[in-house]
Amino acid sequence: MILGCHLSISGGLDQAVARAEELKINALQIFSHNARSWKMGPLSADDAKKFLERRKRAHVEYAVIHTIYLINLASPDPKNFKLSVQALTDEVQRAGELNIPHVNTHIGAHIGQGVEKGLERIVEALDSVLASPQAKSAPTVKILLENSAGEGTELGASFAELGMVLHNIKDKNRVGVCIDTCHAFCAGYDLTTPRALDKTLSELERTVGLERVELIHLNDSKFPLGSRRDRHEHIGQGHIGLEGFRLVVNHPALREKPFILETPKDDDSSDPTNVARVRSLRYDGRT
Ligand code: MN
Ligand code: MN
Ligand code: ZN
Repeated sequence: MILGCHLSISGGLDQAVARAEELKINALQIFSHNARSWKMGPLSADDAKKFLERRKRAHVEYAVIHTIYLINLASPDPKNFKLSVQALTDEVQRAGELNIPHVNTHIGAHIGQGVEKGLERIVEALDSVLASPQAKSAPTVKILLENSAGEGTELGASFAELGMVLHNIKDKNRVGVCIDTCHAFCAGYDLTTPRALDKTLSELERTVGLERVELIHLNDSKFPLGSRRDRHEHIGQGHIGLEGFRLVVNHPALREKPFILETPKDDDSSDPTNVARVRSLRYDGRT
């Protein structure tokens, strides 16, 4: 199975690969720079080279960049909108330079403009990112839109909203979807029984298309179904529970997709524990 964690790049991008090797995982997710700052600066050639070399030696099959949380592709504020488009564009360029196939992003919040206007802004933002010379020079990089928990005016809590964005952008081949289990559950999509999961996935198929789901974020939820509160919990210790994750990681429509954990990091044992727990849930033992 393709399974990894969100890993720190402290000490350099190549250190994320080192951390993946230590955890014996074959996938990783990173922020490409300080996630609390708009300032990105160009990727240093040395940093990129070290990352690529380290990855060549490691058994990391899958990597994804997660954008910073400041990005709001639906922002009604022109300055913030522009910064968001620029930041996503820069991340796509970086992914190209690092030979990383996916840039995963939250789509944003409408902040009072209303859902329809917010979704229009997101389409406008993605069209402009994908028309940029940077995106053209990284033609193999795809942007993944992550479903949200629906806190406040966050968009993309419903699969239908993600579907609307997908259907309205110009360059459809360059955008896919990431489903976060905690966010889906908090947005009201049950995953905890075979029937509930099938119902959730048929809604996903109808609105987005399962083949457009290119990444799964595996997170348990501190809060119950439909709570619209985004707080991640260790696998099996939240309201989704071990049985829910057993269904998710074995479902024929999901099992071949990459799984990335964004579970809490209380101490050094957190990631190994969550990784081992997920692996133990696979039926065929093909870990
Ligand atoms: Mn996310
Ligand atoms: Mn996530
Ligand atoms: Zn979350």
